[in-house]
Amino acid sequence: MSETMKAVVVERLGPPDVMELRELPVPQPGPGEVRLRVEAVGINFADVLAVAGEYLTRTRVPYTPGMEFAGVVDALGEGVTGVQLGQRVAALAGRGGLAEYAVTPAAALVPIPASLSAEQAAAFPVSYFTAYHGLKTLGRGQPGEWVLVQAAAGALGTASVQLAKALGLNVLATASTEEKLAVARKLGADLTLLQDDPERVHKAREATGGKGIPLILEVVGGKRFQESLDMAAHRGRIIVIGNASREQAHLRPVELMKRNLTVTGLWLTSLMGDEEATREAAEVLTRLVASGQVVPQVGPIYPLADSARAFQDILDRKTTGKVLIRPGR
Ligand code: NDP
Repeated sequence: MSETMKAVVVERLGPPDVMELRELPVPQPGPGEVRLRVEAVGINFADVLAVAGEYLTRTRVPYTPGMEFAGVVDALGEGVTGVQLGQRVAALAGRGGLAEYAVTPAAALVPIPASLSAEQAAAFPVSYFTAYHGLKTLGRGQPGEWVLVQAAAGALGTASVQLAKALGLNVLATASTEEKLAVARKLGADLTLLQDDPERVHKAREATGGKGIPLILEVVGGKRFQESLDMAAHRGRIIVIGNASREQAHLRPVELMKRNLTVTGLWLTSLMGDEEATREAAEVLTRLVASGQVVPQVGPIYPLADSARAFQDILDRKTTGKVLIRPGR
């Protein structure tokens, strides 16, 4: 194995073109760590925000982005048990994936169904665990209920549509273009609406017999948040998962009273520390992947040298499914 590797490095935060391809020493795993030969990196909107310095937590620089990746274990640090050399694993390490080799704490490895390809494995943890927690852990969605999935052709969106259907919910999917709505319909969405359809609130109420939507996965934020309140049913649950619009949303708590609404925040990073919730999600997701009811949606795949273009394409809303980067030589 060569002593150096290619890796993306960010020295100052900003738009995607601050990312530079560099030659770095191959990292060595310390106690409790494993090294992966990275096969595929799943790019999330959160990676774009982290590079921009707009994520929930402060981004320390210099750093190598890439919070979610899959690869083959090629070195074990002291004291690591339960994982074998040569095993394909996925990691939710928070950083470091955009490189030919990545070191991660063994505790950041995520169990992945054995049937998944490297690309599917890298597309799986963030989107599917988040979708599960939105739909079930926090959203308490029940079979036969309607759920609104925004940005339904994106990484989290496609995961949410698929999982909601597998769990027996009815899906109202919204997105910015007809092509994206077609993606959601192919995954089983029952009703699709352009996010700028002037009749969207009325149509959502009509589809639900005038009741409104009981469960809303809110990922766009800004002015769309008010719309979510308008679409919600009596005792509706709005799960705030993201703010892709990067606009400020406004909430007057008294507005929640009239229809007994609940607004709940969801952050996967802190939920991963909840062992019971993680175990339950992993059990259900593994079963649904094994039965073929859930198939991680692999979107466009870019080489490592084109990482900035991949990030920019997400920002420009050009992509569907999970954007992936393949660092292999
Ligand atoms: P996506 O693949 O869904 O890409 C983002 C999508 O957001 C776009 O495709 C676009 O869909 C939509 N969007 C709406 N407004 C804008 C805008 N102004 N600029 C760019 N995109 C916009 O990304 P992810 O699946 O990674 O994430 C989706 C959302 O979920 C993000 O807000 C993300 O932060 C959040 N998220 C949160 C998690 C958590 O733990 N809380 C975990 C995972 C995701 P369209 O064109 O159809 O509007």
